[in-house]
This record gives sequence, structure tokens and C-alpha cells, in this order.
Amino acid sequence: MKLSRKISGIAPSVTLAITAKAKQMKADGIDVVGFGAGEPNFDTPDNIKEAAIKAIKAGFTKYTPSGGIIELKQAVCEKLKRHNNLSYKPNEVLISCGGKHTLYNIMEALLEQGDEAILPSPYWVTYEEQIKMAGAKPVFVDTSRTDFKLTAESLKKAITKKTKLLILNSPSNPSGMIVERDELKRIAELAVKHDFVVVSDEVYESLVYDDKQQVSIASLGEEIKKRTITVNAVSKTYSMTGWRIGYCAGPADVIKGMDNLQSHSTSNPCSIAQKAALEALNGPQDFMKGWLKSFDERRRYMVERLNRIKGISCIMPEGAFYAFPDISGTGMRSMEFTERLLDEAKVAVVPGKDFGADGNVRLSYACSMENIKKGLDRIEKFCNPL
Ligand code: GLU
Repeated sequence: MKLSRKISGIAPSVTLAITAKAKQMKADGIDVVGFGAGEPNFDTPDNIKEAAIKAIKAGFTKYTPSGGIIELKQAVCEKLKRHNNLSYKPNEVLISCGGKHTLYNIMEALLEQGDEAILPSPYWVTYEEQIKMAGAKPVFVDTSRTDFKLTAESLKKAITKKTKLLILNSPSNPSGMIVERDELKRIAELAVKHDFVVVSDEVYESLVYDDKQQVSIASLGEEIKKRTITVNAVSKTYSMTGWRIGYCAGPADVIKGMDNLQSHSTSNPCSIAQKAALEALNGPQDFMKGWLKSFDERRRYMVERLNRIKGISCIMPEGAFYAFPDISGTGMRSMEFTERLLDEAKVAVVPGKDFGADGNVRLSYACSMENIKKGLDRIEKFCNPL
């Protein structure tokens, strides 16, 4: 059967593919260490699980409004006020089936043939494909010379009359780097001057280390807020990757357009997962401190060890749970490194090629310290055999 041009052009999600491959190898009895998955190894907190069980028992198992239940939209508004200093009304909020679905709706709602979408590189694999699926052209801005941080100066060079939107992801997947307030202000000025949209994916906002601070670009003034769609999800913050609840806030007309699209594609996000997300946002947040401390220990350990390996150098990430080392000193490009590492040393990492950086690989440290130690011992041996 002949596939449509749109679908035949899509590459599979390499992050999900590597994760699935490592899981399959484990199921086949192979002792593989997986650094692929971008998902916390902690269990979803009990109060959140209980809320879902309660929803099932109460029969909350039917359709909800396609764009999500009003209580959850309200909870999102309160969270955005409390945490991000952003004021939104429920009609400016949409609940979708995970952050990825939120982003998909945004691209479909805003982009069309002939539009350009600016994508700072390296970037999360899905952005590029979603831009292309919407018929638009990704325009890459290389950030490798500025510590993987987007600067207004480099952004300026990529802006044309066709620029429709910029994707901002801070802290970033895969680099973990954060764009700081002053630079964000300059970026916001450009967005207002050239009148393009900023899609601010803030899904890693709660995973910020040291004295760094994550700032929502929409909070920097009314003019930039009008042009921004702030994206988030409960997946990473509450270890709820499988529940699939993402959300965004932005101008009511865009939200309405996205809701119309959603009403004809997925209908509502899972009713039970919505109740769980409601508890996540409104319930106790104290568990996060402990999680963050563990991630921080793993981050330091992983990056230090990577930097001790000949041929590898790694910048210290400021947020998220990924290390993105440069492996070009090994003489391999990312695909060869990844394939050989998995075959010969049984360690799964993600090739940087799909993130727009063929000299790097991505390792997630959202796994146990024991795994991290074991995996790094193997990488060390693989890179520096006796
Ligand atoms: N966002 C996570 C990652 O980059 C989950 C997998 C995916 O959806 O790409 O690993």
C-alpha cells in the first residue's frame, strides 16, 4: 500500500526506539544498561495513584470535555500563577494526551506550507518531525559554540519574513542547558519586533540544579505573553510518563483551534489520568526535593566520570536529566558509537545525530546510581580498552 508523502517522510522516534530495544534485550535475558529513556525511575507518588483509583471507583470513566475537565484547567491556571508568575483563565488552557500531543496540536494549529519554524540545535527529536509534518520548514540555529544556549544574536540571523515560530526548550532536552533571564529578554524583544510565536516547552522546569533559575518567557511582559504558548506536562515532574497528560496555556483563539483539532483526533485525554494530574498539581509537592537531590548526585557522578574517559568531554548540564557528551575524540560519529556500544558493551545511549549533533550522544541519568556506575564502567572499558 502506498503511504502518503507526509507519513513516509517521518523518521521514527529514536528515543522511544532505543528505550524499547534496551527493554527487549533485558526481557531476552541480556544484561543491558539503559541510558536511553527520558523518564524518572521513581514510582508515581501514592497520593496520585490513589486519586486515579478513586476516580475509577467513582465511575469517572466516561467522556470528558475534549479539551479537559474544568477543575484541571483551573489547577493549571493556579500552578502557572504560583510557580511561573503567569495569569491565565481556563479558556486559555488546553489539556492533551501528553506534552508531545500538546506540541503536535500547536504545530498543526499554527504552521502551514511555506512557514519557517526556528529550532535551536541540538533539539529534541520530535520537534523537527512535527514541524515537517505540519508542512513547514525547520530552520536550525547552532548553539554548540555558546554552551548549547540560544542567544538573541544567533537567533537574529535566522529570522526571515517567513518565520512563524521559535521553539524554546529550557532546560533543554538533550543538553540540559538553561537560557537565562537577560538572554530571554533579548529573545522576547526579537519575537515582539518580528511578530513571531514562541513555543516555550518547560517540561523540565522542576529539574534545575545549583543556583540556576528557570524563567518562563511569557512572564517577561504582556507583549511577549500574547505571542507565547507555554507548554508543560506532569510526566517528568511527577514521574507520570505513562499517564499521558500534557497541557499548554496561550491565547484563547489558538487554544480553541487546538481543542477543535483534538475533538476530531483523540477526543478527551484519559478521564482517570486527568484526575491523577489534578492531584499531582494540587497535592503535596515535598517529594520533589528528594528526587532533585538524587538527580543532582547522579548528574555530578556521571559527568565527572565521562570527563575522565579519553576521547569524551561533557559539559555540566544545568537542568533536566540528560548528559550530552561530545564523543568526537573517540574517532566515531554518533551512530557508530551507539551501535557498537550496545553490541559490544551492552549499554544503550541515544545517538546525537537525531538531535542535530552527530558528534554527541545522549545519556539519561534518570536511572539508579547502581546502573549509572555499571554503565560508566562499561563505557570506560569500551572507549579505553587495555
Ligand atoms: N522525552 C523523552 C526523551 O526524550 C521521552 C521519549 C520521547 O518521547 O521522546 O527520552
